[in-house]
Amino acid sequence: MKKASGWAFGWALIFLLAIVWPASGQEQKPDKPWLLTLDQINAIVNAVRAGKDLTPAVWPNGAKMAVALSFDFDAESGFLFREPAKARRSLADLEERRFGPRVGVDRILRLLDRLKLKATFFIPGWTVENHLAPSKRIRDAGHEIGAHGNVHEAVSVLDEAQERVVLAQQLAILKDHLGVVPAGYRSPSWDVNVWTPGLLKLHGFRYDSSLMGNDVPYALDTPHGSLTEIPVQWIMDDAPLFRHVYGSTNAIADPGRVLQMWSKEFAAMHKENGCFVLTCHPFISGRASRVALIEDLARFMRRQPGVWFATCDEVARWHEAAR
Ligand code: ZN
Repeated sequence: MKKASGWAFGWALIFLLAIVWPASGQEQKPDKPWLLTLDQINAIVNAVRAGKDLTPAVWPNGAKMAVALSFDFDAESGFLFREPAKARRSLADLEERRFGPRVGVDRILRLLDRLKLKATFFIPGWTVENHLAPSKRIRDAGHEIGAHGNVHEAVSVLDEAQERVVLAQQLAILKDHLGVVPAGYRSPSWDVNVWTPGLLKLHGFRYDSSLMGNDVPYALDTPHGSLTEIPVQWIMDDAPLFRHVYGSTNAIADPGRVLQMWSKEFAAMHKENGCFVLTCHPFISGRASRVALIEDLARFMRRQPGVWFATCDEVARWHEAAR
């Protein structure tokens, strides 16, 4: 009897392994893309798709193109998230970023005042809490404020549940400290998960401004409806051009070269009826020579016919109305 039950146990184990082994093999498939079926690949790729082409037939008042100036007011937040251990001791790194709230923001606000332009500032929750006075000055000058993470979290390291928590936190901080309910979101480091656009839609955002899939606004189809994308590009970002990073291949760019580069990008996009979205950071572009560069660029753009200067939200609203 004992022997019989031993055999029975042995057979049961073999039977169980026969069922479980192939199943566990299937679970490993996503790590081995060459084992995926075409349907499985398409299910991954189609998680979020660009929807309707929203290239405008015409911009407001018959303009040929749109220009949106945007500023990501990070202060120390990105450094705190990426290198928390170093942030405990490196006063040098912290101070480099504190130039933004201490000097850069107000220089940029004075520039925008001289130009009589409204811009969009994307501000992380942590920055609002820790640099409330400059955040309020941005709001009180009538500029748009968008969400930009809580402590500048790169969402690629967050799962969907964690990303929901971070979204709720940043929205609560913007509401409690500034009375702002943001229409727009810019992902820290332009990091976007496939589920992020759906979460933004669920949290009431009108638009995202973190992706590079077009050079005019476009629609992202999400399970919760369509989200407008106001696209960005590294070409029009101050960080890779001006930020000194030890060991990187790029040198600090001459503002004259950057003026030429951005002017050429603008002129080419003018012919294409595009949407030029400039992304600058107060701790980088708040330096005097770079504020002067943005001023020269804006005055050059103003001299061209049919340029609509708008906030990112105004661009998003125009596109929603044109759908
Ligand atoms: Zn940022």
